Amino acid sequence: MTSSKEKSVKTTCPYCGVGCGVLATRRRDGGVDIKGDPEHPANFGRLCSKGSALADTISLEGRLLFPEVNGIRADWDSALDLVAEKFSEAVRLHGPDSVGFYVSGQILTEDYYVANKLMKGFIGSANIDTNSRLCMASTVAGHRKAFGSDTVPGTYEDLELADLIVLVGSNLAWCHPVLYQRIEAAKSERPDMKVVLIDPRKTSSANLADLHLAINPDGDTALFCGLLCYLSMHGFIDTGFVQDHTRGFETALSSASALSFQEVADQTGIPKHHIQQFYKLFAKTDKVVTVFSQGVNQSICGTDKVSAILNCHLATGRIGKPGMGPFSVTGQPNAMGGREVGGLANMLAGHLDIENDAHRAMVQKFWQAPTIPKKPGLKAVDMFQAAADGKIKALWIMSTNPVDSLPEANTVKRALETCPFVVVSDILEETDTIEFADVKLPASAWGEKNGTVTNSERRISRQRKFLETPGAARPDWWQFAEVAKRMGYSEAFDFSSEVEIFREHAQLSSLENNGSRDFDIGKMARVSKDAFQNLEPFQWPLPIGHETNDQRFFADGKFYTDDQKARFVAVKPISHSITSLDLPFTLNTGRVRDHWHTMTRTARAARLSSHMAEPFCEMHSEDAVNLGLKQAELVNIENQYGTITVRILITTKVKKGSLFVPMHWTDQFASSARVDVLVPARLDPSSGQPASKNVAVKISPVNVGAYGFMVSRVKPNLKHTQPQYWATAKCNGGWRTEFAFATMADAMRFGESAAIAANGTFTLDYNDPLSSGHRIAAFSEKHLKLALYLSKEPVLLSREWLVSQLDNAYSNTSERQKVLAGRADAAMPDKGRLVCSCHQVGANEINAAIHSGSITISQIGKCLKAGTNCGSCRAEITGMINEHLQETKIAAE
Ligand code: SF4
Repeated sequence: MTSSKEKSVKTTCPYCGVGCGVLATRRRDGGVDIKGDPEHPANFGRLCSKGSALADTISLEGRLLFPEVNGIRADWDSALDLVAEKFSEAVRLHGPDSVGFYVSGQILTEDYYVANKLMKGFIGSANIDTNSRLCMASTVAGHRKAFGSDTVPGTYEDLELADLIVLVGSNLAWCHPVLYQRIEAAKSERPDMKVVLIDPRKTSSANLADLHLAINPDGDTALFCGLLCYLSMHGFIDTGFVQDHTRGFETALSSASALSFQEVADQTGIPKHHIQQFYKLFAKTDKVVTVFSQGVNQSICGTDKVSAILNCHLATGRIGKPGMGPFSVTGQPNAMGGREVGGLANMLAGHLDIENDAHRAMVQKFWQAPTIPKKPGLKAVDMFQAAADGKIKALWIMSTNPVDSLPEANTVKRALETCPFVVVSDILEETDTIEFADVKLPASAWGEKNGTVTNSERRISRQRKFLETPGAARPDWWQFAEVAKRMGYSEAFDFSSEVEIFREHAQLSSLENNGSRDFDIGKMARVSKDAFQNLEPFQWPLPIGHETNDQRFFADGKFYTDDQKARFVAVKPISHSITSLDLPFTLNTGRVRDHWHTMTRTARAARLSSHMAEPFCEMHSEDAVNLGLKQAELVNIENQYGTITVRILITTKVKKGSLFVPMHWTDQFASSARVDVLVPARLDPSSGQPASKNVAVKISPVNVGAYGFMVSRVKPNLKHTQPQYWATAKCNGGWRTEFAFATMADAMRFGESAAIAANGTFTLDYNDPLSSGHRIAAFSEKHLKLALYLSKEPVLLSREWLVSQLDNAYSNTSERQKVLAGRADAAMPDKGRLVCSCHQVGANEINAAIHSGSITISQIGKCLKAGTNCGSCRAEITGMINEHLQETKIAAE
């Protein structure tokens, strides 16, 4: 008997920095089964909602399959010849700094290595930067100031060993869900373990927290400076460690002392008794891990915040020991790999320093390179500004979408229009960025390529190919190597496979190292092709002569500075209040649970799109009352840089005066929701990282004449029909789209053309004289093709029920009429907004179960199965249970 499945391939999830191991199994019917790898030490078999849905994202729909030059299909030779010619010409006429590469934490270490080698060693510029600049550049800068190296000392096991976990600017429940689940499991085994959440929003992670400190934007420096003073004042400094292994304590303490306790409370906006509670807990708990991510990094003072956190760990000697230490968790799957090979404009390969003469000479000699730049290159934001100013003549963007993700996103559009030659390597034929490309290069996608990635705990894992490469797609490293050869550097780029690149990278890491640098994987310098193919996940460092990583960084109190002592960094907590009478709100941006970056992959999975199907803005209920805004109303958010239109979500989870808008929506999925249009290019002076979480804006209601909601079998083409507002999302069987129109007449015109385009065998329509609404439903012989509901008031029909009608078969008019009526009957209850995407369980069902007495996660799991697969919704369900218990308690009082 033939098996219906092929052997599983061990690979790594391509989303967040947790770096979960995945087992991908091809079925004979062409589909793929995805499971967590029980043997991978990052996740031990767990996967979150995004990882679990990977199989839904790998279809060839919308793939860029062949190179294109000026929009016309080309062969690889002519496309690559042109790229090489244009880059060479720019360098010849305008110098090496007239070209740039903008790459991504999504590409593999081998891709990164080749890109960096070409730009820094052969083109002779350091103008290569990565979207990781937007993610953790402030941490890199903070680490290097304190440790003399960009070393993440922690491991995931430390999170389970800690007695106190402090989450700073980090919504682990949604952004690193498997780490959240590991902490949740540890806390349920050891209930004495404490979690403190420091975040302006009451995110889903608050459901695990014993204490939530709703801090003001950028108040973190003040909070941790205050902590340093508290530790000193109450005798919690590890004076032996400070004396023997650090320098600069007194200066850092004196700088931190500039603020009184009252000023700390004022800058942070946290009640004094809560600050004291946190300080006491931190002081008295030995095993403390401080986890931080984008809420710390994406700030005008991100590096100072990192320094303020590291200062507290150094002062207490809580570093380099099990269950304690500062721990930066990275957003992207290979942000760490990019750091290792010098993917940032201010680094060299192998954690070497571009401004160090000896390091430069060593790398140049190793590469046999004709040149090496003496100064850092342009960081991400500056690179696109230089392009907008006409200084960059040729730009290659790989695996990222800067038109949506960089600050002042409209300037980025202008930069790409201005730049004479733009190359984009991507897997998709339509993104907001690729439309500006002179040359489009089709890249191999996840599952089609081989190489390595490094996760947040320095663990290097393999991504392995388990799918055929479609069309003419090629790996990113191959594209760079081929261009390098055409630019005249054949010998240095004569790579025929990923293992050759990995070996060279490993060799460079151990060159003249002998323990002088943190990053050393010399043991891998001679890895065979077979061994690379079978490579098990391993943590660095792994120098020659070592079989496994047995080193805990900083356990011996030695750091990578000249004198091996860590440095306290004196930081000055200053207020970063940016609002004004004209722009009275502070906008925070971030992630939602089920989408990733600019949705180029997650939006292909209906189950991921159903959790949050539309761009939104969270606003505090008191602000909404003051402005007269109603729940689900459309609003414009604007400032001097632009305007976006999103739906308001009134809540008490954000602070008064604050707004939160997700970063994911692009022009592919909404009419005007690119939030980075509003983010100014305000950069941290040390790291060059933009301040994406503290933006001054104003908000106003949109004057809407009519609303609409549509389910349709095919994705509506809305780019040219221009309703006043639209947002579309994939759903089971088709697409769901929200609309707003300036007038009812516009809505009716849109309805007519939609009905014609649907070309149904049966088309029903109905004018409701009471609401002046109009409804259209078009059917094929048996199935719904399109249902459109237009109304002067917001359409209040159950979205989930209407979406489910795309799956139904209809045999008579009375059944079809039910769709037009848009109402669930008793046999088809409305499940409400989807919370558990694995088991398709909605909020109404969960609330009903809670009201019927299921008041623990396991009881909800037993009766609805919600939360029993990937577990990503467990935090949200816990929140719903807690809210109910709170309401019941208030009612009883
Ligand atoms: Fe992927 Fe989720 Fe694991 Fe992150 S936590 S690596 S997104 S499965």
